[in-house]
Amino acid sequence: MAAPEQGAGTASSWPRFANLAEYRSALTDQQEVFKARWLWGQHLEAACAGTGSYPGYCGVCGRATEFSFTAGSGGPVNLREEMACSQCALNARIRVVLHLLSRNAPPGNTARIYLTEQTTLLYKFVRAHWPNVTGSEYFGEDMRPRLVQYLKHLVGQREALRHQDVTALTFSDESLDVIVSCDVLEHVPDYRAALAEFARVLVRGGRLLLTVPFMEQSADTTVRARLRDDGSIEHLEEPEYHGDPVDPNGVLAFYNFGWDLLEEVRKAGFRDARWCLPWAPAEGLFLGLWALEARR
Ligand SMILES: [Zn+2]
Repeated sequence: MAAPEQGAGTASSWPRFANLAEYRSALTDQQEVFKARWLWGQHLEAACAGTGSYPGYCGVCGRATEFSFTAGSGGPVNLREEMACSQCALNARIRVVLHLLSRNAPPGNTARIYLTEQTTLLYKFVRAHWPNVTGSEYFGEDMRPRLVQYLKHLVGQREALRHQDVTALTFSDESLDVIVSCDVLEHVPDYRAALAEFARVLVRGGRLLLTVPFMEQSADTTVRARLRDDGSIEHLEEPEYHGDPVDPNGVLAFYNFGWDLLEEVRKAGFRDARWCLPWAPAEGLFLGLWALEARR
């Protein structure tokens, strides 16, 4: 794997939008570009409806590679969770996050980084370049043995499995430089409390990187389910469960976020909150890779 700074240049060129109006204006001003990208995505989804690979350049490895895809049950390829590099094995979503992390972390490798995951390839790669990373999982005690095994397999040595509740972090105030949270907030009923905790533990100028299911055409977040006072779950939409590497039942999504998530991030104490729209076809990065960046 190349120096982590490598991807920062790629990520700097991606467009960023502070609100839906800015995005709509870009769609209008660059109508032909967005149309071409959409058609490219449609074509790829159709062309990749099977198992195969797509030649390109991996910005994480810093060399030519093949991006593999395995469309499930004949459906269209998932351009976000597939397109895994044959060398580093990272899928498109994780490569985007690493590019954005390289751009947002302070120079050098001393950044204090917190990832809301610890038993994943993303954690393994971040740990290899930024030794001051802390990862954690959110789990019940019945899951602990399996997670400990995952972690040992992943990092090849004994490392303590950490448990954190993102709505009540154990970190001190202003003790971290970057927080990366991928596809977690939609599962947190009180996600605003999590945003407030992220703001509390980041230093001034610290960075927040988020990925969540994002409805790019919607101003408002859809609340899919909510917790009643007695702790039971009230479903307001058809229950949607996301794949979880350790829980075969998956995990319930409480939200599909809209542009209003930016406002919630600002209310929690962040500045310069923007949705970033990655696009780098040579790197196997196509549609649906939205990520949110903000500064404490
Ligand atoms: Zn790679």
